[in-house]
Amino acid sequence: MMQAVYQAAAKINLALDILGRRGDGYHLMRMVMQSVSLFDLVTLEVIPGASGIHLECSAPEIPCDSRNLAWKAAERLLEAAGIQAAVHISIEKNIPSQAGMAGGSADAAAVLAGLNEMLGDPLPKERLYETGLSVGADVPFCMAGGTKLVEGIGERISPLPQLPESFFIIAKPVSGVATGPCFQRYDRLIQAEHPDIPAMLTALQGGNRPDIFRHMKNVLEQAADCTAVAELQKSLAAFHPLGCAMTGSGSAVAAAFGSKAEAENCLRGLAHLREKGTRLFFVTPVPYGVLRI
Ligand code: ATP
Repeated sequence: MMQAVYQAAAKINLALDILGRRGDGYHLMRMVMQSVSLFDLVTLEVIPGASGIHLECSAPEIPCDSRNLAWKAAERLLEAAGIQAAVHISIEKNIPSQAGMAGGSADAAAVLAGLNEMLGDPLPKERLYETGLSVGADVPFCMAGGTKLVEGIGERISPLPQLPESFFIIAKPVSGVATGPCFQRYDRLIQAEHPDIPAMLTALQGGNRPDIFRHMKNVLEQAADCTAVAELQKSLAAFHPLGCAMTGSGSAVAAAFGSKAEAENCLRGLAHLREKGTRLFFVTPVPYGVLRI
């Protein structure tokens, strides 16, 4: 039996835009994504030659069967590699669900990258990413990690310069936003305010923090239909972040600061929101999506 433990990093969107729709209904995205220091811990045990997938998760509301993205990832990897093995997956959940932080996708990415590594790299990188995309649109990014431009439905991933030192406060209200209905509401909008992603990319090349974060924006904010998101954005804005935007399809909101002290001040100032069930996280950017520890 082989065993290994992996950190699966959450992501935030520094920018999220929708450029159109494919014939099959999938939305064509352009996003600047960033992995951050909030991790699920994924423990993998593999018995080559045996069979069966087992999964346990510390969060009781998350399904522990084939609906779990980590389970799907294990099934698809074994199938694509033509390998028979029993896999036990144990997930210690820290990333909130229905937050737009790719919690499920991060676990799937850890299972794909981890199993492939433990089994001696049977799938080349390209096949691994293809298999990831078949599990979920955010899975390829979660394997790549760091600071990336993500386009198409999530399959085109281009490297970007690392962020200059920065600090984020993420606030996740009790209410979540379900991804599918959020996109459907977006489709019914008559007009939407789009982020200026080319300007953010130019700013990233220059490495100037205020320039970069000034362009933080998410076109789905207008479709989130969640008063808690709008309220949290107001609460965070009171601490004068360099930028602030909802991440993914919500409901978490991320605010960027140029110093640790400013971010900590915001965290202290919003601590009372925890009484109503809002979860607050202090995170920094990390240059990876999955890390064996
Ligand atoms: P995204 O940023 O990709 O939109 P999300 O914020 O919607 O992600 P997830 O943590 O991926 O949040 O959870 C969405 C739903 O997916 C959950 O309600 C849960 O039932 C299901 N799910 C399947 N597998 C997992 C997993 N490993 N971890 C969390 N949720 C999972």
